[in-house]
Amino acid sequence: MEDTRHHLADTLRQMRRQRGWSLDVAAERTGVSKAMLGQIERGESSPTVATLWKIAGGFETSLSSLLVPPAPPCGEPEVRRAEALRRRPADGEMLVAPLFPFDPHLGFELFELTLPPGYLRHSEPHEPGVTEHVLVVAGQMQVCIDDRWIDLAAGEAIRFAADRPHGYRNEAREPAVFHNLIHYPRP
Ligand code: MN
Repeated sequence: MEDTRHHLADTLRQMRRQRGWSLDVAAERTGVSKAMLGQIERGESSPTVATLWKIAGGFETSLSSLLVPPAPPCGEPEVRRAEALRRRPADGEMLVAPLFPFDPHLGFELFELTLPPGYLRHSEPHEPGVTEHVLVVAGQMQVCIDDRWIDLAAGEAIRFAADRPHGYRNEAREPAVFHNLIHYPRP
């Protein structure tokens, strides 16, 4: 948690410096308030997944780059353990494990996400051309695509254009665990 906050603080400051953006400009691009961005940069705030997505969108970067250092180049195979990577960005949130952080050569990032019972989130559209692949590993959940909720159980998967509004919901009593492979179009 502490590590995540520091990484996020450093990354945000660095991205802003690289682009020469003031806090005002960053607030305008991301739709996140200047005060909140300042708090994040000082490591004083643990933003929600929704806020992280807004920041990723405004800076045209991936979600995982805000959570963990970039993936090492595809060299020696390395076992990644969801158990060790899972974190909860903010209270009442889904658990996020960046199994494979974004790799610019491959153009995707892969998360294991856990929705607690009763969880509901509507997601802002991602950048144009972003595609999500949702693969349910355990439990049951629903994905909202084009205003329609689609039931998914363990072993089922769905792919959809994520540059439109979409959502995730768990109405069951058990947590729902799924993999989300998010593919970004080539720049
Ligand atoms: Mn999404």
